[in-house]
Amino acid sequence: MDYKINNDFFDEFPVLFTGQSSILADTAAPLGSHAAEALDADTTLWTELTLAVRAFRIEFDTFLHARSPTAAALAQERLDRLWTLLVRLPVYRLLHTKPSAAGTLIAHLQSCPQMMDELLTPGTERHRAITRWLARLDNLVPSLQVFRRDVSRMLDEHFAALPSRRPTAYAEAYGAWRFLLADVLEQEEDEHDVSTAAAQPIRFPVRLSWEAYTDAAGHTQLAERMYFEDLSDFLSVDLMKGMAAGNLPRRCAHCGRWFLAIGAYDTRYCNRLAPGETARTCRKIGAHRTEKVKTQSQPLLRAYRRAYERLKGRKRNGRITEAEWNTAVARAQEIKEAALRGEMGEAEAVGVLEGM
Ligand SMILES: [Zn+2]
Repeated sequence: MDYKINNDFFDEFPVLFTGQSSILADTAAPLGSHAAEALDADTTLWTELTLAVRAFRIEFDTFLHARSPTAAALAQERLDRLWTLLVRLPVYRLLHTKPSAAGTLIAHLQSCPQMMDELLTPGTERHRAITRWLARLDNLVPSLQVFRRDVSRMLDEHFAALPSRRPTAYAEAYGAWRFLLADVLEQEEDEHDVSTAAAQPIRFPVRLSWEAYTDAAGHTQLAERMYFEDLSDFLSVDLMKGMAAGNLPRRCAHCGRWFLAIGAYDTRYCNRLAPGETARTCRKIGAHRTEKVKTQSQPLLRAYRRAYERLKGRKRNGRITEAEWNTAVARAQEIKEAALRGEMGEAEAVGVLEGM
């Protein structure tokens, strides 16, 4: 790893993987937990983060060029605001155990004008590092959105109605999905289509080492340590390792929110307090339900898929722009999610989706 910008989790973070868990800053969680949590993410935080990144970028740029005390103070203020939001994200929340060097980044730069000159000079190591760091800030929320969109689509369409909940069934479903996407990719070869980002194999550089890990119960096993730069890369690895171990994110059949179904059991309900209840969890309520809930969300998912295909067709024909396509797909997804969470009537949601 070359020159670092803020010397903490946002430069790079280590994760230890055993056969069953991921361990982040001494916190062990079943494989797949973080991926499931990201699917259930609070998107208002993502919106705030997007605005905070934009605000920081403007002031940071002004500071690098003007280098006045006022510009410095403003840039640091924006960076602090950005970091308060950043450490509320899943994963980063666990890694943020001590005050971040981001809190003194601007003062650090101010103390060394030569460093700032290098940051602004193409071809230098520092310029490369800052360019990558800023690009990763810009890409943070979009990459989480892509992860959520593509993974929830894959799970809704290919994993919701599996005959078995064993790792073999997950592997087969994943294989079938990849095969289908390879086909889509071939058809749209010449087209720069964001919807086919999911068709690209998960592929990124990762640093790797091994160590002997002893868990709380005193059992020792070989564990893999991976170092990630991007949060979404870690989420993909967590998802895949979870799937291989028999853990899969599922939508709760009562509240519609994502949770992790662990250990190849056919768990359909989450263990959270059910909406509008004071004591009963979804699982408790689900225990009294009949099978019919399983098929309840089918018309909604069908309407969503048709809306998605129509929009894709329009984009392909050039009747809507890339930006319009992104906005429309995000909106269709919000509607689907709202209906699955019970915040919008299913009939109403189907109606809106059909009108898109
Ligand atoms: Zn639930």
